[in-house]
Parts: sequence; C-alpha cells; structure tokens
Amino acid sequence: MNVSLPRKAHFDIPEGVIYLDGNSLGPLPKGVLERTAGVIRNEWGGELIRAWNSADWISLPKRVGDRIGRLIGAPEGSVATGDTLSIKVYQALAAALKMRPDRKVILSDSGNFPTDIYMAQGLINTIGRDYELRTPAPEEVADAITDDVAVVMLTQVDFRTGHMHDMSEITRRAHAVGAVMIWDLAHSAGAVPVDLTVSHAEFAVGCTYKYLNGGPGAPAFIYARPDIIETVEPALAGWMGHDTPFAMELGYRPAMTTERLRVGTPPIVQLSILDAALDAWDGVNMEDVRAASINLSELFIKEVETRCPTLRLASPRRPEDRGSQVSFAFEHGYAAMQALIDHGVIGDFRAPDIMRFGFTPLYLDEEEIIRAAEILEMIIRDELWRDPKYQIKSRVT
Ligand SMILES: *Cc1c(COP(=O)(O)O)cnc(C)c1O
Repeated sequence: MNVSLPRKAHFDIPEGVIYLDGNSLGPLPKGVLERTAGVIRNEWGGELIRAWNSADWISLPKRVGDRIGRLIGAPEGSVATGDTLSIKVYQALAAALKMRPDRKVILSDSGNFPTDIYMAQGLINTIGRDYELRTPAPEEVADAITDDVAVVMLTQVDFRTGHMHDMSEITRRAHAVGAVMIWDLAHSAGAVPVDLTVSHAEFAVGCTYKYLNGGPGAPAFIYARPDIIETVEPALAGWMGHDTPFAMELGYRPAMTTERLRVGTPPIVQLSILDAALDAWDGVNMEDVRAASINLSELFIKEVETRCPTLRLASPRRPEDRGSQVSFAFEHGYAAMQALIDHGVIGDFRAPDIMRFGFTPLYLDEEEIIRAAEILEMIIRDELWRDPKYQIKSRVT
C-alpha cells in the first residue's frame, strides 16, 4: 500500500524545531503517553501481577518483535526484543562463534560503532586470546573476507558517514567462504528497506530508539534465521529464554524458537511505548520511505554545498551508497552544531569534526530542509559559532 509521507501528524515535535536527529533519538509519537499511562495505571496498578497473563505481558516482546520484523523482511516469530543493542551484539557474536568452532577470526570494520567493537573485544577476553578481531577500512572489508574468518559482523550503515554496505553482496561473500554473517541494523531499521530473508544472513540486531522512535533506552531486537534457531547456543542463558521458564528447572533448556534469545524479565513499560510508537509505521512501505529520504537528503546536500562552501561532504555522494543521514565535515563542527541547535535546527556532532543530519521522512518535509540549510548558512557565513557559549563541551554530543 502506498501512503503519502510525511506523517507528521503522528508525532509531537516542539513548535519551532526542525528535527534532524531522528537517527539518534526519534521524537515522541502521539498516542504513546495515553498508551503508557494506561499500562501503568490499569495493567500494573490495577491488575498487578495478574497482568502477565491478563494483559499478555509475557508475549509482548514477541508481538513487538513481529512488528519490527515486517520492516526488515523477517518472518513472524524470528525477532526477539529486550535488553540493549550492546547485549544483543554480544549474544549474536557468541552464538555465531559457536557455529564455527574451528575458526578464530571476527571480521568487522573500522567504521563500526565503538560498542560493537568493544563487545567483540570483551567476548574475546572471556573466551580466549587465540581469537582475533580484524577491522579493515569499510571499503576494504569485502576483500578481507577470507576463508579463516568465522564471523563477519558489520553495521550496515556507518554511524559517522552514513556509508551503506551492500547487504546481499557482503552476505554472499561471507557465505562463500563459510563464515557466519551478523548485520547490525541500528541505522537501517526504519531508515532503508531491508530484506533479511533475501539476504539469508544468520543474525541481525538493532536498536529501536533511533528511526523506530521507541524512546530513550528502548529495547533492542535480535533476529536469527529460522532454519538455524534450534541449533543456536545462547551465551546468556537467562530464564526467559528457557523452554518452560515457570517449570523452574535446575538445568537450562532453551526454547525451540527465537524466544531463546530472550534473557531476563522484559521491560514492559518501555516495550509498550515502542508498541505504540510502531503504530506510526502501520501501512508504511519502506520503498516509499527510501524514495522520500533520498529526495530530502539530495536536496539538503545541494542546498548546503551551495550556501556553505567551507563544509565538506563526508557522506558518499551517490545516494545508493548512503543510509538515511548526511554528514558534513567542518573544523569547528562542534561549535557550529551547538549554534545550529540554539537556532532551532537539531542535528548532532560526532568526533572529530562531523556534523551529522538524519533524514526521517515520516515527519520531515522539503520546506524544513531548505529552512535548515538557510539557518546553517547564516551560522557559517556570520561565524556565529565563534560565540564562547558554543565552545563548552557537553558530556553528550
Ligand atoms: C546506536 C548504536 C548502538 C548503541 O548500543 P546501545 O547498547 O543501545 O547503547 C550500538 N551499535 C550501533 C551500530 C549503533 O548505531
């Protein structure tokens, strides 16, 4: 079904704000407050512990997983939700290494998000030092997939540059040498069309507070290919992944479904927020989102390059090589971003010099993109970023 984008009416965005940071924290969708208030007041407050059954809290992680699955080409029952993305990276990686016990190499790339790399290093420290993590440059990763690699673990869209890996091609190469493929979809889910079934990757993980608008700290998701799930060995063998958690058995016996990748008690309030937030995606076709995203980001690049010649495009120029964000390098990028935010255009800054802008077509239109470029032009041209108040570094950038 085709829908007309944007769907701004689904979101509560403060008056006067142009929000170009939905790639980092999606805005508040309408309906979330009412839904969550009901969960807290009626389900928790009224039903108390009975709500696990009466409000079916116990299956909420699966129901929400299925709604995410529709946006990433994952069949029903193949996506589990809960925990944070860092935990899900660890789980997928540990399970993938178990599938290739004769190999000791994890291949990622130097553009990957630090936590993905740290989790791999931490896992290696736990299981033994004969394991090795390789991190070639993103453009060299395809050729680094050699037949000693156990697992290829990549984030499809680079958080700094927006560069997008070719999921089908890299997965094909990984499988050609017998490696297991893990995709991190943190900047893909809700941003670009993804078809996990077609890609045939073994695992995928992602977070839901970025393009899926699940709110700060929203639960992460993990996908395992349905034909392998019964052989996946969970490294974090929590009771919620047990086949019969309430049998309270002494020994761990994993569920025969993706539920085995659950760990502990699910965050019901946060999952309810996410469930309500996903209403904004009902009937939305990811191909329409992609077309609108390319239109907005091409417009932004054209406007900024015309108006601000000192900024250098740090994202791939070809739209098919980018996710749904555009980055510009600027020596005084931190201060310039603070000035921009102060003038109502919210993006963010990533060290060392990247000004980052996310394009989320559900609630952005062309008029806002042009207005954002005009304000950026004023800040650069008049050097408004020189104001000392924009030099003060916050803990979160
Ligand atoms: C945002 C992001 C994360 C964040 O992980 P959390 O555990 O949710 O803090 C991890 N990996 C990638 C690739 C990300 O973009």
